[in-house]
Amino acid sequence: MIGGCACGRVRFIARIDNDEAYLCHCRMCQRATGSISIAFKNLKAADVRWEAEPDWYDSSPIAHRPYCRECGTSLGFRFKEGSDNMDLTVAALDDPSRFKPKHHFGAESIHRAWLNTEELPETRTDEYQKLVDKWMQATGKLPD
Ligand SMILES: [Zn+2]
Repeated sequence: MIGGCACGRVRFIARIDNDEAYLCHCRMCQRATGSISIAFKNLKAADVRWEAEPDWYDSSPIAHRPYCRECGTSLGFRFKEGSDNMDLTVAALDDPSRFKPKHHFGAESIHRAWLNTEELPETRTDEYQKLVDKWMQATGKLPD
């Protein structure tokens, strides 16, 4: 599968053998991504080939995180030592739709109000006319 950052500077190809992913809720992932939780796909680091190298943020004494210095996209997580595996952020893949969350990690800092949101009202981006107007004015079309 292929993926990369928002601006396209960083691109990767990953060998993915199953659809299992997970959500990490730990405070370090929340801060590193600015998100309530982050969806990760764990895989062998050797199964990730960077076509354009990411930058690496030294996020703690034991781990570092690939990201893009231009657009700021969080691309994953890797322990500095002792593991052949790493995580890629699921949504950095060009098609994240196949993955299913199989467990929660960092359960001590789960924000429970954000876990079960199925009952909330939903709006598609193409139903929000102010946004549609901005895109049409700027580019003549909606983004993919
Ligand atoms: Zn980028």
